[in-house]
Amino acid sequence: MALSDDFLTELRNRADIESTISSYVNLKRAGRISKGLCPFHGEKTASFTVYPDTQSYYCFGCGNGGDVITFIKNIENLDYIDAVRFLADRVGLDVPDENNYDSTMNKRRLRMLEANREAARFFHKCLQTQDGAIGYRYFKERGLTDETIIKFGLGFAPDSFFALTNHLISKGFTKEELVFANLARRSQKNPQNIYDNFRNRVIFPIIDVKGNVIAFGGRVMDDSKPKYLNTSDTLVYKKSMGVFALNLAKKSGKDSLILCEGYMDVIALHQAGFTNAVAGLGTALTSEQAQLLSRYASEILISYDADEAGQKAAARALTIFKKTNVKIKILRLSGGKDPDEIIKNYGVEKMKAIITGAANEIEFALLREHSKFDTASDDGKRQYLQSAIKILSSVSPIELEIYASRIAEELSVSKEVVIMEAKRQAKKNTVIQQKREFTEIQRQEDILDKLNSQRKMFYRGAKAEEMLIALVMANPEFVNDIDKKISSEDFVTEFNSRIYKSVTDRIRQGKSHEISFLYGDLTDEEINAVAKIQTMSHTLKNTIAECEDCISVILNEKNKKRLKGADVDTITDEDFLKFFNNN
Ligand SMILES: [Zn+2]
Repeated sequence: MALSDDFLTELRNRADIESTISSYVNLKRAGRISKGLCPFHGEKTASFTVYPDTQSYYCFGCGNGGDVITFIKNIENLDYIDAVRFLADRVGLDVPDENNYDSTMNKRRLRMLEANREAARFFHKCLQTQDGAIGYRYFKERGLTDETIIKFGLGFAPDSFFALTNHLISKGFTKEELVFANLARRSQKNPQNIYDNFRNRVIFPIIDVKGNVIAFGGRVMDDSKPKYLNTSDTLVYKKSMGVFALNLAKKSGKDSLILCEGYMDVIALHQAGFTNAVAGLGTALTSEQAQLLSRYASEILISYDADEAGQKAAARALTIFKKTNVKIKILRLSGGKDPDEIIKNYGVEKMKAIITGAANEIEFALLREHSKFDTASDDGKRQYLQSAIKILSSVSPIELEIYASRIAEELSVSKEVVIMEAKRQAKKNTVIQQKREFTEIQRQEDILDKLNSQRKMFYRGAKAEEMLIALVMANPEFVNDIDKKISSEDFVTEFNSRIYKSVTDRIRQGKSHEISFLYGDLTDEEINAVAKIQTMSHTLKNTIAECEDCISVILNEKNKKRLKGADVDTITDEDFLKFFNNN
């Protein structure tokens, strides 16, 4: 990963961490730091902290931390070099091409996109040929107009093992390229031979927001299996991030998206004028998809099938969307199992009415609980009331008023009692939440303990070392003075010694020493640990006197370690216990 320091410095200067993260997380400034709800774990109180001074971030809830590159790497689910490229793209910087790996990957990616585009053209043209007539008839029978077929670039993969591969090879693509793009597969018997991946299926191209064809979904026209065949993960496509028709929906001019289960629902909705419909690919919604969708709309209308499986999936999607800032509504589909059927049976107006009458999150949760119990019986009434109170324990006071009245009326119970019980439950929730947060803080200490195996044994020394690392990172000018008193070899724990050495070596050579520049030396987990250590400087006064305190603790502990002759590599459990008790 031979990116030059100059390039990384320029990238860090241009891609300011606070503004970059702001496009993903709603940040609130508080003095010199910014806080928001962590996008990497579900939380209700903000423990995700951004430090503009050090251009770093750290989540005190889950321990995720680093610099702007780490953030992009984690949130976009990219590897290091792709995160750098992504950021460079954003701020209009060219990634230097000095590095061979880099440019080969990029070339491969571009070739793959070209192959996909040519394949999409081929599948689409097939619809007009003898071989593809059956696919065209299928779309027509499903009620699609020619205009819709063109708009979505729908196509057909002929019932042949070589139709597409022969076509693409004639266009100059290699067998290897086709296999990499998952357009073809290698024969098991003779790996030299390849054959078409998609055969005898109607084809839905997946196009990203930049207009690249990144994958395909193929559906059989009868009941054979598998019903759907999708491109597996490639260099240009990650299934967990794929969203169908987002390229079209983002141009709808609406601030909401309708999230459906299948391609055909999306297409039927678009044809009926609901041009903000999209679908996840595969079955269950992923948090990556939710993140992506939340960037294009402030409200998501979940339109999953009316059956039990669909409603379960909707409930799961709700939990996933909780980590984003979008508002969620759930469509109550009736008159058909999915939007496609409803529009066909009852027309566009019915669908409009369903969208306007969409249930919000609370209504949906209450309806779902309601359907589980027979509220005509006393027992069912009681059980439903209990579940309802749990749901109402986490809503706003105004919402509590509204829904408590509704439930009180429905079950002929006192509204005051419902409110009182919901408030009592809310108190219980707070206690549970506090306990959970405490365990999280414990867990973070575990992150450092795990990476630094000597930390538990030399806790005092390790803490002082961490503080000293934080101090030099924030005040590199201290290094000269510190060097007169201590070197990395005096450190009590090897892990901290190594980090201290990487950081201070760079400072002494006059190089940048921020997290971005440590990637070559440290693993992802170690980067999180450094980000955690770095947060300490924000609670310190950042004086040389503090450094001296740390140094005297470290030297003291080092002496103790030598006197005890404790060596972690050879120490037995028994010795460890003895040692632990003496300290
Ligand atoms: Zn977190």
